[in-house]
Amino acid sequence: MKASVTVLGSGTSHGVPMIGCTCAVCQSADPRDRRTRPSIHVAVEGGPAILVDTSTDLRMQALAHGITRVDAILFTHSHADHIMGMDDVRRFNAIQGGAIPAYADERTAGDLRRTFSYVFTPPDQKGGGIPQLELSTIEGRFNVGGVGIEPVPVFHGLRPILGFRFGSFAYVTDCNRMTDAAWSILAGVDVLILGALRYRPHPTHFTVSEALQVVEALKPRQSFFTHICHDLPHAATNAALPPGVALAHDGLKFDVEVAAAFAPAEVAERKWT
Ligand SMILES: [Zn+2]
Ligand SMILES: [Zn+2]
Ligand SMILES: [Zn+2]
Repeated sequence: MKASVTVLGSGTSHGVPMIGCTCAVCQSADPRDRRTRPSIHVAVEGGPAILVDTSTDLRMQALAHGITRVDAILFTHSHADHIMGMDDVRRFNAIQGGAIPAYADERTAGDLRRTFSYVFTPPDQKGGGIPQLELSTIEGRFNVGGVGIEPVPVFHGLRPILGFRFGSFAYVTDCNRMTDAAWSILAGVDVLILGALRYRPHPTHFTVSEALQVVEALKPRQSFFTHICHDLPHAATNAALPPGVALAHDGLKFDVEVAAAFAPAEVAERKWT
């Protein structure tokens, strides 16, 4: 099945430009140097439209990139930049007329229930409305509307979080260390979006050179770096990257082949519990 991937946000948690920063990248006129908080949208042809994370900037991202449908939401982890657009899910509930299935690992699901208690433990009087999500805990491979999704366990500092592989394409952000499982799950991936914060070391994110080492090991046909801070000017950084590697930018769109739903035996093969 073919799918169209849109990078909704390619920035780190502060976004670029950062509030009050006068550096060259924050003042750049290149639209690719304007980075909102990290998220992607995967629209499967004749299948579901899948949103990865509800970034702080979800409303403006949906308006900017014509996103009018979300059939499922996958959460990588519960850091603020990845979840704080939750309330904007209400528009998709209204347009589509129902709750939206959402998927997160156990820790992230717990954080979401606590952070958004008004969503998951709703008050009696609903006022202006609340987002409607049917939250499931990820316990290994799962299927969304005929598409097979393989969670990719990686480390974000000390914290285990998830990337996701959809057939030939994978999205791994907020990572500074692969797990053994991640290497085998990502083997043979054709297009990879990978987090690469900046050149200087960081305790919870890959640098550009660390991300390039992952690319070198996995050898995807095309890699895009995301979750980028204001240290990296788009044009100059891209010019220095090897062939087949580029910085992502907000609004970047490309087509991929996603995998059909896993059979029950394939789900059982990669069950975590
Ligand atoms: Zn982040
Ligand atoms: Zn700056
Ligand atoms: Zn994070």
